[in-house]
Amino acid sequence: MNKPPSVPEQFDAVVVGAGFAGLYMLYRLRELGLSVRALESAGDVGGTWYWNRYPGARCDIPTTDYAYTFDPDLEKEWTWSEKYATQPEILDYLRLVADRHGLRSDIEFSATVTSARWDEPEERWAITTSSGNEIRCRYYIMATGCLSMPKSSEIEGAGRFRGQVYFTSRWPHEGADLTGQRVAVIGTGSSGIQSIPLIARQASQLTVFQRTANFSIPAHNGAPSADRLEQLSEDRDGYRHAARWSRGGIPTDLTDIFGVTASEEVRRERFEAAWAQGELFGILNIFADQGVNPASNDIVAGMIREKIRSIVQDPVTAEALCPNDHYFGTKRPCLDTGYFETFNLPHVRLVDLRAQPIVSITEDGIETADESFGFDAIVYATGFDAMTGALVAADITGRDDAPLGEKWAAGPSTYLGLMTTGFPNLFMLTAPGSPSVLSNMAVSIEQHVDWVAGCLRDMREAGFETIEPTALGESGWDQHVQDCAAITLYPTANSWYMGANVPGKPRVFLPYIGGVDAYRKACDDVVEQGYLGFRLTGPGQAQCHDGVVRRMQPDVALVLELLATLGLPPMDSLSAADARSLMAATAVNRPPGPEVGEVTDGVIPGAAGDLPYRLYRPAGLPEGPRPLVVYFHGGGWVLGNLDSDDPLCRDLCARSGAVVVSVNYRHAPEDRFPAAALDAFAAVQWVAAHATELGGIPGQLAVAGWSAGANIAAVACQLARDAGGPQISGQLLICPVVDSDLTRPSYEENGDGYILTTALMRWFWDHYADPADRGDPLAAPLRGNLAGLPPACIVTADFDPLRDEGVAYARALEAAGVPVRLTRARGHIHTSLTMVDLVISGAPVRAEIGDTLRAFFPNAVPQEPVS
Ligand code: NAP
Repeated sequence: MNKPPSVPEQFDAVVVGAGFAGLYMLYRLRELGLSVRALESAGDVGGTWYWNRYPGARCDIPTTDYAYTFDPDLEKEWTWSEKYATQPEILDYLRLVADRHGLRSDIEFSATVTSARWDEPEERWAITTSSGNEIRCRYYIMATGCLSMPKSSEIEGAGRFRGQVYFTSRWPHEGADLTGQRVAVIGTGSSGIQSIPLIARQASQLTVFQRTANFSIPAHNGAPSADRLEQLSEDRDGYRHAARWSRGGIPTDLTDIFGVTASEEVRRERFEAAWAQGELFGILNIFADQGVNPASNDIVAGMIREKIRSIVQDPVTAEALCPNDHYFGTKRPCLDTGYFETFNLPHVRLVDLRAQPIVSITEDGIETADESFGFDAIVYATGFDAMTGALVAADITGRDDAPLGEKWAAGPSTYLGLMTTGFPNLFMLTAPGSPSVLSNMAVSIEQHVDWVAGCLRDMREAGFETIEPTALGESGWDQHVQDCAAITLYPTANSWYMGANVPGKPRVFLPYIGGVDAYRKACDDVVEQGYLGFRLTGPGQAQCHDGVVRRMQPDVALVLELLATLGLPPMDSLSAADARSLMAATAVNRPPGPEVGEVTDGVIPGAAGDLPYRLYRPAGLPEGPRPLVVYFHGGGWVLGNLDSDDPLCRDLCARSGAVVVSVNYRHAPEDRFPAAALDAFAAVQWVAAHATELGGIPGQLAVAGWSAGANIAAVACQLARDAGGPQISGQLLICPVVDSDLTRPSYEENGDGYILTTALMRWFWDHYADPADRGDPLAAPLRGNLAGLPPACIVTADFDPLRDEGVAYARALEAAGVPVRLTRARGHIHTSLTMVDLVISGAPVRAEIGDTLRAFFPNAVPQEPVS
């Protein structure tokens, strides 16, 4: 007789995983009064701390900070015995939390989820487990961890070895006695680096197979930091608040010292202090620019290599242990206890797999290209299919029977690293797109869980039963996650952050690198804006405030934050003289821009007197004449000079291979309209006439400008056309002023808060031109005759009040038959592109500008662009 189908158990929510995240999620859901079942494949709570029992397993975040904060009494009662606690102690802690809050009664252990399917008509998740049970729930929450799916061994012959095989991530509960054995360890990530010194104590011979040398610093483990304990005892709440709003989830004073400009003494002092401290966020914060600037990063990396060479006695082994194929920090650095010292032991040997790759695992050991090794035991410390592995393996099927693995085939896509479209009511804790592995996990997990719990509470109060991100919200977040990574050195490494450790896995930067603080703010903003980017539905109602929570480039946002802290007066409240002084003062410490071949200053006869110019000649071969670009600086006809736009001119010169002649012009209010425009035209005429002596190619001349400089560049083109010359090959107008109408939508949207404000623009116009003159094409070129003008490249920035007039000029030129390339600086403000080497995200736009300038001169000698 057939067994009657069992009735699925029904819960409000199912949580998968009973580690740090799952336990707290369960706690919060119960607090909300929801019925919850947690499913855990292990035999007990603990998650990563249940499985990773290899010798030496410890956390690499100080335990004072690697703990829950939701239970203040527990915080006071529990004392960690060490600065970095061992795996057994952390597991004990998690067991205590489970017992203390009676969580075990809602956890089914040894229960592996085999599939989860969204039942569209029922609006519920149907979950099956390894025991054949079916469970139904409204909310399905994956708390499966980022590093929980061990990477399968792709090494040839892995199944053939007849000796003992161990995986650090699945170490036997009873331990492994390696006493007197010949042991191989494959892998030198955190797990390998932590376990190798302890395995060396037991083994008679230890051979470490290293594919990539890794950066590691001494943990200096011992008692918990007295300083942190004191801060906690004095002001626990303040300390925890600071952690929640810090970059990495630990209160840290971020440095503003740049490696490239610091003195040798300061560099050394900061490095030695971080080395002695033995904390990851310390060594990652020696210089403000070490994560983004290769030269600064090299300084830190070089000093770590010096340390390795000073510890390891055999120079060949020392050199092989020195990491040299990735920037420091771009692969997770390790904290060790005696790792490099271990290689001084006579029975320990390093095999550099770059020099002699593994050919195969054999029945007796390992065969490399050069040698055969016999072993009694092989330890795989080869890592995880990080961040996506456990989620994809969980066989989750969303709307229209679409599997998550299929949706993420080209890389994961999430909204806030918490949800993904097509999978309603599926929450993922610390998923791709969240700070997770780049942060103190304990802090990030509490934030995620609190957000999800708050969301479910809000939904219940408003009568909603489903929530799902919109395509726009999600693609905007994905873009932001990649934008944040793109300005750093991180995507350059073959790291598990990039999915590069798993053969065939798409290369996408997985975690959110914008910071715990920025992430928390984004999540809060989403809620404050009525669950922006989410669609919520409930009986008889739906809500969708569609949109993108972060559209600005992250480094632009940082510049604005920094400026806000300076408390500068609004420019438009100052006299012209004071505004000029302020502008000069704020430019003092900015990066200088790229090197060019030669910079010379000279003087041009202008429309009413001499005009200073600065000429930039590109570096490199071939020698000989180059096309010419006459450039006009920005500053609303009032501010600016040859120095103000110097970095941009260098950049344009280096990228385009053209000689750039930056010309100063008469400024308002001393010389009002149309003085600047007439000077610009006079300068263009003079440069064209003196092309040869300036090192230019006669007849190959473009004009360029930024902001008001672009205004007079555009006017000069119209005047040149009307005067029958000089011939202009192209006009590059970066965020141009082309009209005096301050009512376009971009003025409404961006008129305040992005440096160039509506008020400042009005101030500029007031200084420059009488109202009666502002419609004159010499002031507002958009209103002129546009036929027969040179090809144009117009660059607009999303957060610029002038954005729409730039677009309008492009459209009007096109309508007049002028070839136009409209380049959008996505997520930028009016001034972004001039902040060369400060706003790194502007580099791709400036590269495009360089390409456009080259295209103005199709017959010029080709020249490699700068990278
Ligand atoms: P991992 O950092 O990915 O390191 C794996 C190691 O195995 C790497 O050296 C890798 O070389 C090597 N490897 C992988 N496949 C190989 C192959 N086919 N042949 C030869 N070598 C191979 O993994 P993990 O050490 O387990 O650490 C993962 C993450 O877990 C850490 O980054 C950290 O976030 C976390 N963790 C933390 C701690 C802690 O201190 N609290 C401890 C352990 C782990 P390549 O570099 O060339 O790929």
